[in-house]
Amino acid sequence: MSKKQSNGILQTAVWNVRQSAQRLGLDERMLTRILEPREKIVVALHPFLSDGKFVHIPAFVVRHNDTLGPAKGGIRMTPGVTLDEITGLSMEMTWKTALVGVPFGGGKSGICCDPAAITPHDKEIIIRAFTRAVRRHIGPEIYVPAPDMGTNEADMGHIRDCISYSGGTSITDGCFVTGKPVVLGGIIGRRESTGQGVVHTIAAACERLKLKLADLRVAVQGFGNVGGVAAARIVKTGAAVTAVSDITGGTVKEKGLDIAKLQEHVRASGGVKGFAGGRDVPRDSVMEVPCDVLVPAAGGSSITEANAGRIQARMIAEGANAPVTPAADEILQERDIFVIPDILCNAGGVFVSYLEYTQEMQREQMTYSEVEARLTERMRKTFSDVYERAQQKKSPMRWAAIDIAVLRVVEGILARGLLP
Ligand code: NAD
Repeated sequence: MSKKQSNGILQTAVWNVRQSAQRLGLDERMLTRILEPREKIVVALHPFLSDGKFVHIPAFVVRHNDTLGPAKGGIRMTPGVTLDEITGLSMEMTWKTALVGVPFGGGKSGICCDPAAITPHDKEIIIRAFTRAVRRHIGPEIYVPAPDMGTNEADMGHIRDCISYSGGTSITDGCFVTGKPVVLGGIIGRRESTGQGVVHTIAAACERLKLKLADLRVAVQGFGNVGGVAAARIVKTGAAVTAVSDITGGTVKEKGLDIAKLQEHVRASGGVKGFAGGRDVPRDSVMEVPCDVLVPAAGGSSITEANAGRIQARMIAEGANAPVTPAADEILQERDIFVIPDILCNAGGVFVSYLEYTQEMQREQMTYSEVEARLTERMRKTFSDVYERAQQKKSPMRWAAIDIAVLRVVEGILARGLLP
């Protein structure tokens, strides 16, 4: 596979692991161990929706690697999601959990459906159908799902309910799903944790690059859980968010958008398009506005060789998973754009999911300030580990991040010995 063929999420993930294995001198057997997913499950969901209509919905669960613990990774609900995409994302999760130092492996799920085109009631029917279909693949020792694109806290609550009542009880023994509503054993601050983690890594990068956080102009692609929270949290530091896009379009204001008002507009109208506090622009042009930091926080492969040369940011903070293809990555490196790679930048969510997992095992409740303090400390420490290695090896941050993660998984495989 050449760099130019690596435009999909799976191809990007495979490319990155192969490159890492080469840098680290891993042999073919070890490469196979860390490349091949442990389990790929394809199920067909056939729920009757509230209007009595029969639907056919393909869904997937992939457990890529469980050397360091149960597979962890979100459920993506988009109309075009594929098994390949979920496989690539599950690989990313293996490296993310290893890098941020939580005892999990990598997994991911996909449900082929457009959440914007159905009612909340029908979404609940589909989520429950999915949970029943893959029930035996979910568990605190097997795979622990969480929200991803198209799914949210409410969906995780339905999964929790479906699993506990399938056993006839109100609670589960251990944590089967994270990102749940707090009232059902979720953790305070999980919803904000990925976006907040993105801001922690940008702050850490600014310190190293001698940039002032309060002077930054930030552009954000995607205004959902990750992009919306990252935008809201970064304006609190004094930075200006000058451009935002979502699926409906883009909005720009050079002096800085009022993010609270933009959120109100999105709640009322369903998207950023038509926001009176900004100027409407074509959706994809937000990737190319002049800014200091670009935060891709939508789907994968949004920065390719087609637009990498036109990006006008000094830094890219990858809120999304796999937003940069390998060919685009090379262009960004040549252009000396500082990239905070996804497995570092958006790891705040899985770190706080780990706190939720431990609190549920211990039947305890952490406070918001405890969660915030632990998230800040872990994101800062992980950023430092990656930055130090990148400096030492004179390599891009992406190489340093994945190499640290691969080495940890390889160490785990060797420590386990012959089995499994
Ligand atoms: P979300 O569904 O809450 O939001 C996605 C946003 O992207 C929406 O605003 C949508 O309109 C927008 N969008 C979709 N296509 C777009 C396009 N072509 N151009 C511009 N905007 C577009 O999803 P999310 O949970 O915020 O996830 C976003 C990204 O972050 C995904 O890549 C996901 O894998 C990654 N991520 C999420 C989490 C998490 O905790 N939710 C954790 C780690 C990584």
